[in-house]
This record gives sequence, C-alpha cells and structure tokens, in this order.
Amino acid sequence: MAKIDQKSNKVIFTNAEYTKAWENCPIIQNRDRKDFRLCYICKYPMEFKINENMSNDETAWVIDLINIKKPVLEIDNYIGVHANCVQNRTKKNATKLIKRIKMVGWMAPE
Ligand SMILES: [Zn+2]
Repeated sequence: MAKIDQKSNKVIFTNAEYTKAWENCPIIQNRDRKDFRLCYICKYPMEFKINENMSNDETAWVIDLINIKKPVLEIDNYIGVHANCVQNRTKKNATKLIKRIKMVGWMAPE
C-alpha cells in the first residue's frame, strides 16, 4: 500500500504499485511492453527503469491518478506518466481518454 511521507507530504508508492501502474499504461506496438510504454499525455515513450523511485532524470515517470475527482489510492486508478507531463493533463477524469488512446496502435519511430 502507498504511504504518505509526513515530512514531504508526498505519496510513497511501493515497487509493486509501480509495476501495476505500468501495466495500466498504453503499449507501444514495436517496443517491448515490459520496457516501454506510452505517456498518454504527451504520446512519447516512457522507459520502465527510469522512474521517480530511482531517478531524477527529466524523462522519469511517476504514478498519477486516472480520476482525480475520486482520489482513491487504488491500483485501478493508477497510471504512469512523465513527471513533467502531470501539469499538462486536461481532464480530471481521464478514464475515457485513456481507453480511447489504448485503442490506437501506437508505434515508436525507429
Ligand atoms: Zn509525457
């Protein structure tokens, strides 16, 4: 279960939660789904190993909530996005948007 860090007021996710949030991200057809997924906000690839747990890289991905109107810390409500893209989300409830994006066959440039 995610914990709230009292000092920074940040949510600390477990490795299992990172893995599950990753499973919720759209796949890229010509990349290994274990290593690369699509950021639904900017439509550019994210790399699994570069997450906020271990990296300050600007391409690091974080766990965001799919529906922030219903701010529950549950696996089904988690999605991975680039840390820099969180501020660019347009919908408070991105459930339908993500569903539509997942229906598209995304390809990364070779
Ligand atoms: Zn992004």
